[in-house]
Amino acid sequence: MDERKILIIEDEKPIANILKYGFEKEGFLVECAYTGGEGFAMACKEPPDLVLLDWMLPDLSGVDVCRMLTEQYNLPIVMLTARGNMEDKLYGLESGADDYITKPFDLREVVARVRTILRRLDKANGREEEERCVFGELTVVEREHSVFRNGETLNLTPKEYELLLFFLKHPRQVFTRGILLDRIWGYDFAGDTRTVDIHVQRIRKKAGLDETLVTIFGVGYKYVP
Ligand code: CA
Repeated sequence: MDERKILIIEDEKPIANILKYGFEKEGFLVECAYTGGEGFAMACKEPPDLVLLDWMLPDLSGVDVCRMLTEQYNLPIVMLTARGNMEDKLYGLESGADDYITKPFDLREVVARVRTILRRLDKANGREEEERCVFGELTVVEREHSVFRNGETLNLTPKEYELLLFFLKHPRQVFTRGILLDRIWGYDFAGDTRTVDIHVQRIRKKAGLDETLVTIFGVGYKYVP
């Protein structure tokens, strides 16, 4: 799969780690740099799809790094800063940043805003349409691991996403819980078939599939669009 690469330039390792965790959980590839110089070098070596850039770095300021990057590359940049200072914000945007997030941040909001920027760029590059698959009232963008219903992103865990996509791509086929465990969780998964039931209940609720994702009594499940 074509995964998006995020470069995090942040000297506070706990913050960098939280961001890395949050983005990796959502299927992004993440690299971290802990100084401006290191981050700039990493971006030059292998340009990411987006840079999350801290304002206060030990060597260069985030604004300097932002300028250096935007002079050479057409990279989306999201600035992070400790304060919600309006002047900083304007200054950050003038320096070429695409968005600006203040700490402490909500991890989900950071991921959502990054997705919005990437989606906007895809649209601008005409890449969006071909990557959208429509299944009834659900729209799937596989590259982003996102599913939309009535224009709203469903808040799915990675396993819920995989299970949902599996059903959507195999309509009218009956799958036993054992097969679903093997396909989605893998052979070495230690849980039991109850895991499948719980996930099916969740995706039914989240994706509005109460009527279409049906239980075949004594056998398993089937998606009937
Ligand atoms: Ca910092």
